[in-house]
Amino acid sequence: MSLIEILFLPVGGMLVVGLAMFVVSSLRERERRAAVISLVLLLMAAGIWYGLAVWWPTPDWVRTSVMALMAAMVILWFIPTGPIAVLDGTGANERIDERDTMFAREEYLPDSEKYRQYYSTHPEKKKIDDRWRQLPAILQPGGRFYNPDTARRVKSVFAEIHSMTSQVDGEVRGETHEVEPDRMTPEIKKYVLQLGADEVGVARLNPMFVYSYVGRGPEPWGAPIDNRHSFAIVFSLEMAYQTVRKAPEMPIVEESARQYLRAAQISVNLASYIRNLGYPARAHISDSNYQIILPAVAHDAGLGELGRLGYLISPRFGARIRLGAVTTDLPLVPDRPIAFGVQDFCRRCLKCAVNCPPRAIPEGATTVVRGVRRWQLDVERCFHYWRVVGTDCGLCMKVCPFSHPPTIVHDLVRAGIKRSSLAQTLSVWGDDLMYGRQISRERLDG
Ligand code: SF4
Ligand code: SF4
Repeated sequence: MSLIEILFLPVGGMLVVGLAMFVVSSLRERERRAAVISLVLLLMAAGIWYGLAVWWPTPDWVRTSVMALMAAMVILWFIPTGPIAVLDGTGANERIDERDTMFAREEYLPDSEKYRQYYSTHPEKKKIDDRWRQLPAILQPGGRFYNPDTARRVKSVFAEIHSMTSQVDGEVRGETHEVEPDRMTPEIKKYVLQLGADEVGVARLNPMFVYSYVGRGPEPWGAPIDNRHSFAIVFSLEMAYQTVRKAPEMPIVEESARQYLRAAQISVNLASYIRNLGYPARAHISDSNYQIILPAVAHDAGLGELGRLGYLISPRFGARIRLGAVTTDLPLVPDRPIAFGVQDFCRRCLKCAVNCPPRAIPEGATTVVRGVRRWQLDVERCFHYWRVVGTDCGLCMKVCPFSHPPTIVHDLVRAGIKRSSLAQTLSVWGDDLMYGRQISRERLDG
């Protein structure tokens, strides 16, 4: 038996094992289509490989060529094929007024003083907003996926979060102790993970990512926001994969609410802890005590990249995350933004844009928004669709290829995407093949 013949079988075995791992992983994720397709590929690969080795005598040069092709694919999958495109947030040159956000505008009830004031200075938004105002509010009867039991549970979670808005800030207690940033930073991160966060990072707080005026929440509407903290401790919480798969139906909004509650509990606790160390600290929680643009600050903290869909994409959980943060003057060592191929991959993928029912996600190139080159979500269209379905939708999060769970199989794909344009192209194609390019639009279009 020649060396080529000896090598041929185990190399084929590796391919078969890889496909078998994909079958198992798909079954565990309850991804039926991916499981069936990968099983068919596994049987074909095993049959062809074993047939070439045992049943059909093949010249060595054919086997050598097949193995060389496989080796080339593996190498091309992992070797860098150029610099990784980076999202650069340092050019941000304008603060956002929280009064312009959709959540704030949702609270301007017709005939109220806020409504009159806001639309007298923003007449171009009145027609757009009055259109979605004719639809039932999120979690109210009339939404396409409304379910009274889920709605009741979600409202009680948000009531719980609301009760915490009075605890986000407070007096600094005790003396300010000198701390060494090098020692304090890992300690704080460890504490945040112990409190239940899945990932944590520290950003030097860019003043451009602090809202300019209060738009909602307990503080006076329109008051200037003067948060000059030096750092933001930002963390992410994974949303359950199986629940995200049910988007845009009610379970997605329940999962969002659950994670917002966890984020609020962690950040209120963390802020209180830091104030006990003698340093100012403010928690930023949903419903609504946000003073900062969380995705932008999380990007600075090295937790992920902003994708085409407008959310932060984490290297481990993709878009399936919710964020929480505490801003503070506690001396810390900031992390750096990371890049793992999202900008390049999103250029090729477009799956979120194709599947967004109201076409709120851009299909074209990035544009410069307030000094940062990125994709800009049409928030008005997105929010209008939320009112149609009565939930926070999440379809884009569900279809994003980065949102697959962090298993060996998906991590190998992500490792390729980070470096190689071949891996990016093949992964877009492979994700469409395994999970489908377009989900059924029945019941979704509005
Ligand atoms: S949440 Fe839904 S409507 Fe909004 S951008 Fe994503 S897919 Fe589109
Ligand atoms: S679905 Fe594709 S294009 Fe959209 S954010 Fe995810 S990777 Fe990027």
